[in-house]
Amino acid sequence: MNMNDKSNKIKGNCLCGSILFEIVNDFAKLYFCNCNQCRKITGSAFASNLFIDVESFDWLAGSDGIAIYKVPNRDIAKSFCRKCGSGVPWPSSDGAMMIVPAGCLNGEPEVKGKFRIFTAEEPRWSTDFELARAHQEFLD
Ligand SMILES: [Zn+2]
Ligand SMILES: [Zn+2]
Repeated sequence: MNMNDKSNKIKGNCLCGSILFEIVNDFAKLYFCNCNQCRKITGSAFASNLFIDVESFDWLAGSDGIAIYKVPNRDIAKSFCRKCGSGVPWPSSDGAMMIVPAGCLNGEPEVKGKFRIFTAEEPRWSTDFELARAHQEFLD
């Protein structure tokens, strides 16, 4: 694959826009992680993290405004914008991969495989999506 092909790139940013990055849109895998640490880190039922080679990732702006919290004794981290708190990408512990929160992308990632992990720790309140009534926009 031609790594310089701009048509195959996807951008992402934090909510306040100060951190901006660009990635080759060809992700090896997407993990939906229900572990207790990811629940706390995200404040939600699961983390949605993409994995990609570090060579396919470029910071475009604001990487000096990132803080990282590393969970002791676990290979889990939370990388976030110091200004707005949004989750942003971080390098794996061996430095080979970037882990990218899928929600910070500005488009649809191309993913080879999707996996749900740590489903044993899935909170019961997050299941039964089909029982939650759907609304196109905010519910009054
Ligand atoms: Zn921000
Ligand atoms: Zn997790």
